Amino acid sequence: MTTVFPAQPTPLVDVAGTDDKFPVNRIYCVGLNYTDHIVEFGADPDKIDPVFFMKPADAVVADRAPVPYPSHTKNFHYEIELVVAIDREASNVSVDDAEDYVFGYAVGNDLTRRDMQFELKEKGMPWDPSKGFDMSAPISAIHRVSDIGHPTEGRIWLSVNGDVKQDGNINQMIAKVNQIISKLSELYVLKPGDLIYTGTPSGIGPVVPGDIMEAGIDGIDTLTTKII
Ligand code: MN
Repeated sequence: MTTVFPAQPTPLVDVAGTDDKFPVNRIYCVGLNYTDHIVEFGADPDKIDPVFFMKPADAVVADRAPVPYPSHTKNFHYEIELVVAIDREASNVSVDDAEDYVFGYAVGNDLTRRDMQFELKEKGMPWDPSKGFDMSAPISAIHRVSDIGHPTEGRIWLSVNGDVKQDGNINQMIAKVNQIISKLSELYVLKPGDLIYTGTPSGIGPVVPGDIMEAGIDGIDTLTTKII
């Protein structure tokens, strides 16, 4: 059996402290998972549940790799997020067992065409091209659970050209990592290589070409991305 043309390469993410790579299967994302961000997004935190959406696997961008300003937006936003890396198949997993499926954690940036997202939301249409575009998922190296455990608190922050714009704590997440994995595993069969971007705290805002975003989560890593 041959393929009719060479298959695209599997997207890879660095694993901290080794030359090994994490092969990416799917990228799931959680939206509206921090109360103060739901408020700035113009929604009522008491009336909203975290939502799920996806990005293509090849949207990952390594730490320090530049991201070109995308087409079809005049309001290109950052969203700093905790990323969970899955290494076992997971279907209908309980909240209590969910951590067993985690390989490690990383720092991610859920880049967003915000103007397009609001236009599509207004029309009641799917958000896909505002979220799931090329190079929309910068990510740090993944740190193994065996090295850092399962972080449940720690400062999560992002600065643009040295000015701190987002400054929260991962203990403010509404749906916790184990609840997210459990719920996602009801909706999909999670597979080794899946990444989950778990939502952003408040302080979202725009970047323009030339801007440098520095971000981090205490106890995990930092992530630097220049817009070109
Ligand atoms: Mn997000």
